[in-house]
Amino acid sequence: METKDKKQTTAKSTTAAKTTEKAKAGVTKAKSSAASGLTELFEDGLKDIYWAEKALTKALPLMAKNATSPELIDAITNHLTETEEQIVRLEQIFESMGKKATAKKCDAMEGLIEEGKSILEETEVGVVRDAGIIAASQKIEHYEIATYGTLRQFAETLGLTKAATLLEITLDEEKGADKKLTEVAVNTINVEAADEDEN
Ligand code: FE
Ligand code: ZN
Ligand code: FE
Ligand code: FE
Repeated sequence: METKDKKQTTAKSTTAAKTTEKAKAGVTKAKSSAASGLTELFEDGLKDIYWAEKALTKALPLMAKNATSPELIDAITNHLTETEEQIVRLEQIFESMGKKATAKKCDAMEGLIEEGKSILEETEVGVVRDAGIIAASQKIEHYEIATYGTLRQFAETLGLTKAATLLEITLDEEKGADKKLTEVAVNTINVEAADEDEN
């Protein structure tokens, strides 16, 4: 043990700077591209949700195709239109900051969409699948609500008024979509899906 420690010290002595900067156990080392301030963290968040919204324009039509309730199909279709507008809004935010709109893969949204697809396989077409689609969709809306709430707050702190205003509009749309899904579930689908249990 002693010998090994000595060896390492000798090896490290060539890089003096690194020996003084001891890594704390369990603390993840940052990449060289790591955000140095709130502006960069804000931009990273914008890139993440830009990717997520684009992914949703592909996932929502699949959900609508698999839904049977006219109210649910309507809710999803309406939100697809809103999602397309949200993408434009994000592009306007990038532009207002003098930045090129860039998408960076959102691992969370990829996972949420994956989960939505497996719910389709795990349910028969009809009210039960509809209930599953609502469940998956609301997880997505909640992720978006959390994201836009944070980004709007960042924009406010940074004094990016235009960005904050645009993010607030989208945040309200996400909340509206979530509320609409709850209404569809409570008013019809969940009750009918529960009836299926007895058959
Ligand atoms: Fe969205
Ligand atoms: Zn995301
Ligand atoms: Fe993400
Ligand atoms: Fe949404």
